[in-house]
Amino acid sequence: TRAISLKSVSKSYLRGTRAVEQLSLDIRPGEFLVLLGPSGCGKSTVLRMIAGLEEPTEGEVYLDGEYATDLQPSERNMAMVFQNFALYPTMTSRGNIGFPLRLEARGEDPAPRVDATARMLGIQDLLGRYPGQLSGGERQRVAMGRAIVRNPSAFLMDEPLSNLDAKLRNHLRAEISRITRELGATTVYVTHDQAEAMSLGDRVAVLRGGILQQVDTPRRVYALP
Ligand code: ADP
Ligand code: ADP
Repeated sequence: TRAISLKSVSKSYLRGTRAVEQLSLDIRPGEFLVLLGPSGCGKSTVLRMIAGLEEPTEGEVYLDGEYATDLQPSERNMAMVFQNFALYPTMTSRGNIGFPLRLEARGEDPAPRVDATARMLGIQDLLGRYPGQLSGGERQRVAMGRAIVRNPSAFLMDEPLSNLDAKLRNHLRAEISRITRELGATTVYVTHDQAEAMSLGDRVAVLRGGILQQVDTPRRVYALP
């Protein structure tokens, strides 16, 4: 688990879009921080800069107080989950969840860690199936399994529930809350859904037009007009 700090970070894309403007944010170790705002306000850009998938145009990123702007994504020990799951269609759930382990561990049998991860997510019965044989919610659980199997110190989620129906969203929301607390990993969760932000966040950071409007507990954020 780790502290993530953004210091006066700005991001401009090539064709002039100013996606994020002078954003400073300190995320505490183990905290569940929600980035909330309408589509296009810069949430994904902030998340990608934390992940190292995008370089800030100005400003710095620190991880546990260390300058990290230059670190590659693979050097950051973070896991990311996306809206569209992005599972490998030709691999079973076991193959998908174990994939990051196969990349890193030479010779180590991935099975025990894959099984432990599947147990945590309640998907032991799905390990032999391919993504095409899974429902949306099941796919998202497998995607979460693939993300957490290496014990990341930070967990980054970009609208992970947006492609699911309302009932499943509520159910998985509770699961995400439980799992991230069990892992103790610092979590940054992007959403445009206020109810989601309210129920999940230790704190909510509200973004509008690339500018950070406020960062506070859900109760205080919603007490304001
Ligand atoms: P959100 O996640 O809140 O929907 P994004 O971070 O995806 O917002 O986008 C913020 C702004 O930056 C938008 O205007 C979007 O069109 C623009 N943008 C995002 N990614 C790129 C990119 N790769 N190239 C150019 N513009 C981009
Ligand atoms: P989200 O809904 O999560 O914000 P988008 O659907 O806006 O994501 O963007 C998906 C991908 O398209 C991202 O990789 C982003 O960088 C890219 N993208 C978004 N907006 C633009 C844009 N205006 N120009 C070029 N690429 C963009």
